[in-house]
Amino acid sequence: MECQLVRPNCIACGLCQTLAPKTFDYDDEGIVCFLNTAQQITHQSILPQEEENVIAAIKRCPTQALLAK
Ligand code: SF4
Repeated sequence: MECQLVRPNCIACGLCQTLAPKTFDYDDEGIVCFLNTAQQITHQSILPQEEENVIAAIKRCPTQALLAK
């Protein structure tokens, strides 16, 4: 699967990194980005072993800032 970030929707709640710490990180303002990836990157392929965690984050993000593609 692929995950898309809609960074303008992110409210910096911190939930997604708790659920999927190997995928999500935050910039200096707490807005979501991919771990170890430039902030401009808004799509990433998710490793199969990470999909369950990422799907949980997508479902629980309060602002639809994370999408499955
Ligand atoms: S769960 Fe959603 S709103 Fe919260 S930090 Fe992650 S992307 Fe942003």
